[in-house]
Amino acid sequence: MMFCPNCKSMLKSIGGKLKCPRCDFEKDVSDKSQLQKTRQRVEKEIIIVDEDNQMSTLPTTEIKCPECGNKTAEWWLRQLRSADESEVRFFRCTKCKFTWREYD
Ligand SMILES: [Zn+2]
Ligand SMILES: [Zn+2]
Repeated sequence: MMFCPNCKSMLKSIGGKLKCPRCDFEKDVSDKSQLQKTRQRVEKEIIIVDEDNQMSTLPTTEIKCPECGNKTAEWWLRQLRSADESEVRFFRCTKCKFTWREYD
């Protein structure tokens, strides 16, 4: 809740602006909403896929499978629940479907 700096009335949110019902004071709040939109877009760019989901559209990379020696694997990022750990990259062999996480 925000109040008018002139007359202390409660400001009303009208059309992206905070307006005072008593005097002519108004405050543009569009800058703040712009910031939130930017952050949401960045979060969407991070690929987070559940292991149970279909992964046919995942990007592939050249990496050797520790199981069969195949040199192509699909990869994706997964955010672990623990706050201490950052995103971990997972790989899945396109040949034998063996799945492993990136070694540190
Ligand atoms: Zn006012
Ligand atoms: Zn393999």
